[in-house]
Amino acid sequence: MAEAFDKAGRRFDTVLIANRGEIAARIQRACRELGLKTVAICSEADRRAPYGKTADTFLCIGPSNAAGSYLNQNAILLAAQLTGAGAIHPGYGFLSENAAFSEAVERAGIAFIGPEASSIATMGDKISAKRAMILAGVPCVPGPDTSLPDDPASVERIAEEIGYPVIIKAAGGGGGRGMRVVLEAGELHEAVALTSEEARQAFGSPALYMEKFLQHPRHIEIQVLCDAYGNAVWLGHRDCSMQRRHQKVVEEAPAPGISSETIKPVGMACVQACRQIGYRGVGTFEFLYENGAFYFIEMNTRLQVEHPVTEMTSGIDIVQAQIMVAQGFPLEIRQDDVACTGHSFECRINAEDPESFLPSAGTISELILPEGPGIRVDTHIHAGYRVSPYYDSLIAKLIVHAPTRAEAMAKMREALAATRIEGISTNLPLLRTLLEDEGFARGETDIHYLEQWLRQRR
Ligand code: ADP
Repeated sequence: MAEAFDKAGRRFDTVLIANRGEIAARIQRACRELGLKTVAICSEADRRAPYGKTADTFLCIGPSNAAGSYLNQNAILLAAQLTGAGAIHPGYGFLSENAAFSEAVERAGIAFIGPEASSIATMGDKISAKRAMILAGVPCVPGPDTSLPDDPASVERIAEEIGYPVIIKAAGGGGGRGMRVVLEAGELHEAVALTSEEARQAFGSPALYMEKFLQHPRHIEIQVLCDAYGNAVWLGHRDCSMQRRHQKVVEEAPAPGISSETIKPVGMACVQACRQIGYRGVGTFEFLYENGAFYFIEMNTRLQVEHPVTEMTSGIDIVQAQIMVAQGFPLEIRQDDVACTGHSFECRINAEDPESFLPSAGTISELILPEGPGIRVDTHIHAGYRVSPYYDSLIAKLIVHAPTRAEAMAKMREALAATRIEGISTNLPLLRTLLEDEGFARGETDIHYLEQWLRQRR
């Protein structure tokens, strides 16, 4: 059992990276910098992945279909055992927030580089997550921290107490699915019935809850880092409001227009929550921010795609820190040592048609990546690389850092202009135009801004 092992983690010298693409390359770099050996795994489609060549061991574990490879728990565990890996890093997506997998890994005597299974499970259920946050004093969206009762009259009462519009959400929902906005009382019961059925089919549990629907929020998140001894720090905040269909497109740190006095109590509440639930590793608290108030929506118990913007402003290597915490090292950094300098942006470069957003597979015929001070590119691609149609379309992350937001934007514009990816379609043209947008330059845009901007361009 997981409990039978030392809570403080254990030393390991080889890490199996249970992921692909840019994050597999990013994690491998962190491992090597720490003097650790790496095992890269792949599916049939990723046999020629460049990070396979630089890993100490490279193993194909299954077919191109993710269900048979990157989501195949037994195959990954077997690969770790065969290669003598002492730890598994799950990256993001795939098995990174699967409590059963983390437990199986620990049971096999292998360190899971992430929080304990119980933390993943608590945060994976949105109702229990909300309850834990309320207990820890983290501000949440108005609405009860219990599942909706069956009795229609009680459901109506709850909606009236909250006040319309409300949102019905599945406790087990994720990826922007399993939620429905209700504008007025007449739509309530049908919305509850539909969401419940959807939740039962998609997430295996019909449990729902209800909260206030915020109409023009920004998406602000707080990065935390915790060790196994109750030490926890927050490394600053990010603004990830530039989204299309709940997918983040551009992220930045810090969030513009939010003073350090405003954000500090929220950051401290997140740290307090981590101590209270015995959280270990890195994590992100996601908030909606409207009219000067923060409302917790969910916690991600893993490394996030947008972690680099916080690395740039805090100077802390989040992946290295995550691995060291899993090895049982206490955090060396204290909250007072954490500083936020300058401003950072990240643009997600996707292999997709910039107009239709359909994924674009094929071979990259030419690749030029930007260079210079304050520019970072996290990617696994190279000229001749074949982008496969099986997975997420993210092929590179372009990250910049400069003293001010305006300078960082200018640097990003130049970096985007210098980037050339030929042979496939990418969203580069869209990113270049977005970086010229006046509204974006002013900052503080809400989560609907990008979709409205896209509609106006049609
Ligand atoms: P998921 O786990 O599916 O990502 P979240 O709870 O993080 O679900 O919500 C996803 C998105 O749905 C948010 O980023 C926000 O755009 C919207 N959303 C969620 N809750 C609310 C709410 N109470 N009011 C307004 N929008 C919301």
